[in-house]
Amino acid sequence: MPELPEVEITARLLDDALRGATIESALAPGINALKTFEPPLSALEGRQIEGVRRRGKHVIVDVEGDLALLVHLMSAGRLQLYDRRAGPRDRTSRLLVRVRPRERRGGGRGDGAGADGSGELELRLREFGSKQAAWVKLLPGAGLEADESLARLGPEAWPEPPALGELLDAPRPLHAALRDQRVIAGIGRSWADEILWEARLSPFKRGSDLQEEEAERLRAAIVATLARALEHYEQAVSLPIPDKLPMPLRVHRHEGEPCPRCATTLRPVHFEDYVIAYCPSCQTEGRVLKDRRLSRLLR
Ligand SMILES: [Zn+2]
Repeated sequence: MPELPEVEITARLLDDALRGATIESALAPGINALKTFEPPLSALEGRQIEGVRRRGKHVIVDVEGDLALLVHLMSAGRLQLYDRRAGPRDRTSRLLVRVRPRERRGGGRGDGAGADGSGELELRLREFGSKQAAWVKLLPGAGLEADESLARLGPEAWPEPPALGELLDAPRPLHAALRDQRVIAGIGRSWADEILWEARLSPFKRGSDLQEEEAERLRAAIVATLARALEHYEQAVSLPIPDKLPMPLRVHRHEGEPCPRCATTLRPVHFEDYVIAYCPSCQTEGRVLKDRRLSRLLR
């Protein structure tokens, strides 16, 4: 599940390798992945990549001539860079962009020659699992910010999250509010668990019940948690970008294990198709929360 830190490290590594590279061809073998028709993908041919960046959980590839590829990885997508072409039996690729890297002097990462000697690199949007949900749009740069998926995004959760008082001032559980991309962009199920644990706040406390001091603690926890994740990825992740990112989670998916802070057993709350994990001692004043009632609350 790529969220802000996973998408950010992806964008950084791709930016480093692809800035200045020239696109040779682009195709979308996943029938459902490409959500736009005009301009066609062939409009990218021969153009230079100006940079790769992140907005919320989206990756944006800026291309010369005022074009941009907007990519959403959804729950099981990866944007990976290989020095060889995908094999004929590849079923995971939704988008293939072949590029010729810029000339580099003195070697280093992405210094040109691909494994097959062609010097070509292949950027692949791959998706794992049965669902085809990851998507791509090719947009005129001027239309990028107006695209509905970006236009509705709230302020970025990192590096400078907004003051949360007003944003969270709703009778909604914090776990739901933090995952609402219109409120604050970049946080999903995994990092919401980690942030609320870091802030020692119940996932089910209502935003409108937060004291000023608690809102400040939550904001600090957002910055610290996401920054730590990024530091970890800077050390642990490199191109082509692995299928499975080594997510440094301490609470999410650790229900049944001891809390890393106080050793109380972390508890789960099942909601729809996922599990929220929390520490009863650190976050809910010792109360073990009942699944069913909370599921209704989260809707
Ligand atoms: Zn604890």
